[in-house]
Amino acid sequence: MSTKHIEAVIAPPAPHYVGDGFRVHNFIPSAAHLSMRRMSPFILMDYNSKFNFPPSAKPKGVGVHPHRGFETVTIAYKGKVAHHDSAGNSGVIGEGEVQWMTAASGILHKEYHEEEFSKTGGDFQMVQLWVNLPAKDKLSKPKYQGLTKENIPVVQLSDNAGTIEIIAGQYQGVKGAAFTFTPVHLQNAKLNKGGKAAFSFPATYNTALLIVEGNVKVNGAETATTDQFVLFQNDGEEFTIEALDNAIVLVLSGEPIHEPIATQGPFVMNTRAELVEAIDDYNMGKFGYLE
Ligand code: MN
Repeated sequence: MSTKHIEAVIAPPAPHYVGDGFRVHNFIPSAAHLSMRRMSPFILMDYNSKFNFPPSAKPKGVGVHPHRGFETVTIAYKGKVAHHDSAGNSGVIGEGEVQWMTAASGILHKEYHEEEFSKTGGDFQMVQLWVNLPAKDKLSKPKYQGLTKENIPVVQLSDNAGTIEIIAGQYQGVKGAAFTFTPVHLQNAKLNKGGKAAFSFPATYNTALLIVEGNVKVNGAETATTDQFVLFQNDGEEFTIEALDNAIVLVLSGEPIHEPIATQGPFVMNTRAELVEAIDDYNMGKFGYLE
């Protein structure tokens, strides 16, 4: 086993709005180093850094829109998000919870601030990841996994270092909550000041950290601060995170899908012809109906 060294520590790009409810920094694919191919299977990461939304009578968010060919994973750190889709699934996630939506063959959905949260307003902090699907699963049946606090396994670290919440993959042999089509590790390290956690993922997996809260030292050397993104080289397996103050770090590592990527807006396929087909199917109403 050898060390996974840091390739780059990346500051959040300037934010933009998705709909009127998500003020996001797009790390993947628009920041330097973070192309879809480089980060596969993670093909998009929008990060709504902590932002205070004022009270609103009408929930802010994104109206009905389609997806095909991948999964959207929304992780809530502050505030609450509601989801409705054309497969009849809906749910609300709050702090520490995750929506894992498999769009696959095609879905319409809408994503809004939850009604009560909208009325009171407050701090809002979220991550949305798009996880690509391999060609053989792109047209599989849509699926929804609402991961609540009750079903996300938690590993308690020794020495009161903190906890690891396992959304997907595994940590110290404990399996995560989500079903994934290809190997994906997605974990929240919640570390107390001075707490340290060690991780090991295959060198070939694309691996990164998002510093959601606090400041950390990686591999005992390099410091990363709140809202920064840490990209690892594909050169070794092991790395450590040490919290310089109470910290929350999103840890992501996944086996790359070595297939062509053809993308247009909300569709991610393998070829141009499949994109044309996706748009035709959407226009013909094959993604179902959602008000
Ligand atoms: Mn969406």
